[in-house]
Amino acid sequence: MARKPTDPPIQHHLRGMRQAATVAIAEHGLALAAEGRTVRKLGLGQSPFPVPEPVVEALRQHAAQKAYLPVKGLWELRRSVAHYAERTAGIDRTGEDVLIGPGCKELTFLLQHVFRGDLVVPSPGWSAYGAQARVVGRPIRWLPTRAEDGFTVTPEGLAEVLGDGSDRVRIVVLNYPSNPTGATLKIDQLKRLAQVAREHGALVLSDEIYGELHHKGKHVSIARYYPEGTIISTGLSKWCGAEGWRLGAFVFPESERWLLDAMAAVASDTFTATSAPIQHAAIVAFDGGAAIDDYLVGARRVLSALGRWCARNLRALGVECPQPLGGYYLFADFEALREPLAARGITTSRELCARLLNDTGVALLPGSEFGRPDGELTARLAFVDFDGARALEAVAVIPHEQPLDRTFLKRHCRPVVKGVEAIAAWVG
Ligand code: PMP
Repeated sequence: MARKPTDPPIQHHLRGMRQAATVAIAEHGLALAAEGRTVRKLGLGQSPFPVPEPVVEALRQHAAQKAYLPVKGLWELRRSVAHYAERTAGIDRTGEDVLIGPGCKELTFLLQHVFRGDLVVPSPGWSAYGAQARVVGRPIRWLPTRAEDGFTVTPEGLAEVLGDGSDRVRIVVLNYPSNPTGATLKIDQLKRLAQVAREHGALVLSDEIYGELHHKGKHVSIARYYPEGTIISTGLSKWCGAEGWRLGAFVFPESERWLLDAMAAVASDTFTATSAPIQHAAIVAFDGGAAIDDYLVGARRVLSALGRWCARNLRALGVECPQPLGGYYLFADFEALREPLAARGITTSRELCARLLNDTGVALLPGSEFGRPDGELTARLAFVDFDGARALEAVAVIPHEQPLDRTFLKRHCRPVVKGVEAIAAWVG
């Protein structure tokens, strides 16, 4: 039937279409750089470290693998991820419990696509959970957290949401170490959250993609305390520095294998299978070993020192900012500077980040991208703009007991240090 002039524009038939802010800010930064401006890329969260050499070597060895692999993933890799989960989370899993995909982001999307559970996401939380919910037309329930709780979800907060009388199935997303706050959960918190989820029959999607980047190497999975209801999300992107390789894995409880099968059915009609050479190489990453342990120890030392330095220097400006304990983000609240910022016409997190980028070339992401109200003057800083390969070489020759000082950070993480100094000068 022909379209009538009174019909709504054809674009109205699109759904969920909005470019991710992370991508938009990266593009704006590139445009400024093309004009010759110095840009500090503290917006996009990408590991500064190279992929560990044994994993790269495994990829070289398997470059000629060209066939489609099974939709759920290469069996040897599924088994290796199950062993990894046993080793790191202390749970009993087999290769049958593992689904491999081209990134956890895609797997999270598939989960939302096939499963009609309502999503409960602590705020601030990673923007993609909500964006994906929008694409599949699903409501999302943000669960606010407070700075005084280190932006972590409390058992009381979770119990309130899960006990609101709704009979809909819930998936609670926990992401720790957290994007965007760098916060993590302590064992007693995990136990109590597990208890609340169990009492309400909620599934937990535990996004542990930054788990290996816990700054003290002490990440604990909630699956340890809620093995029957936790899906662990992990992958190569963050701890292995391989974002562009696109490999993620979900580890299911045996009782939820029907969900794995449903996701695999959709995968068979969409991406078919994850890249074959990458899956072969990923076995080496998940099997681990001395070289990967050394790599992680070095990465954690650098991130820990840098995160601490950034948080301390922002706090000195009056910016509230819990010290990150894992990963490479921190979440800054400029509320104490509301008046002077308002005098410069800045009253929202978007305005804050847009002006900062224009005036100083420092790219941050607004808190509104992470489920916070736009009127809150919060922003995420990703302390990743430095040459991670050189930093790893440098840290390898510094004795363990010797903390990495400002001289180290100025030399090896210079763009981040300069970025924070530029924020200080701008605020001042
Ligand atoms: N979860 C979180 C919390 C993330 O920050 C990211 C990447 N920004 C992902 C998942 C995506 O992982 P992948 O690259 O495996 O899709």
